[in-house]
Amino acid sequence: AAKESGRSTYRFYVPEMRLEAERRHMLTAELHEALLKGQFELHYQPIVQLDDDGLAGFEALIRWRHPVRGLVPPMEFIPIAEETGLIIQIGEWVLREACRAAAAWPNHLKIAVNLSVCQFRHNSLLATVVSALDETGLFPERLEIEITESVFLADVEQSLPLLRALKELRIRIAIDDFGTGYSSLSYLRAFAFDKIKLDRSFVSGIETDPGNLAIVRAVVGIGSGFNATTLAEGIETEEQLQKLRAEGFSEVQGFLLGRPMLQAEAQALIEGGASPLLVGARG
Ligand code: C2E
Ligand code: MG
Ligand code: MG
Ligand code: MG
Repeated sequence: AAKESGRSTYRFYVPEMRLEAERRHMLTAELHEALLKGQFELHYQPIVQLDDDGLAGFEALIRWRHPVRGLVPPMEFIPIAEETGLIIQIGEWVLREACRAAAAWPNHLKIAVNLSVCQFRHNSLLATVVSALDETGLFPERLEIEITESVFLADVEQSLPLLRALKELRIRIAIDDFGTGYSSLSYLRAFAFDKIKLDRSFVSGIETDPGNLAIVRAVVGIGSGFNATTLAEGIETEEQLQKLRAEGFSEVQGFLLGRPMLQAEAQALIEGGASPLLVGARG
């Protein structure tokens, strides 16, 4: 095919581009099928509140149970789902499924759901959220929506009214991966977020890197100034937990406290009644 190609500049990368396009095409078809066949599942990672070391709730994290490839992590299919628009349907499923699971838990437990910017930009979002709550009977106060700072990169005029509308439903709104985006901090003044989730990249070096400690402190300050809950993501060691507790974070999440787990395991954790801190320390 390269020989027939008239322009030499195309010669080398055309086949590669075609392969990539074919791969995407196949993946897209497979994702459609996955939706129809019910191959997606949610795993639930515990969130611990540090005032009493109790379970505050879970974050729902999607996985694709692929018949051949096994359990596929979100980073390997969410970006394609976003490009093809399939994220809208997948996101609807996630919302409904997460609300359904949480509705069976005790009322003090919350469920956090990740939203991609595409979902946030799509005009069906509000209706989708309302119907997920209606269908499952979950109190809106128990649903927390996680968005990233990228929501503010463009179109603040559209973002703010939508956030306010969600808030009017009494849903909680969290900023995910805080500190990794490119947006300015001014959006913090424009909207009263309920929670700030500090990205785990700032947690991982906290034992040794004074820069990370400075950022951690600034985030706790921002949280208390704006009356937002502060959560530190990606806690893997006892030392990190001690440091972040001492700095005044309200909540923590990470492998030390529990990995994302199946619904039945989450249920067992809830019924066991023990603090995930103790479970984590034992395991
Ligand atoms: P995220 O929302 O920041 O979720 C946290 C990610 O960090 C999860 O990866 C989780 O398994 C991982 N994690 C938690 N604790 C630790 C730890 O102590 N150490 C390390 N190394 N990692 C930890 P996961 O499940 O692979 O999800 C990756 C990202 O995919 C999520 O980041 C989120 O942005 C996206 N995602 C997941 N589920 C959904 C979904 O239902 N919808 C959308 N739109 N995005 C999703
Ligand atoms: Mg998240
Ligand atoms: Mg995060
Ligand atoms: Mg993330």
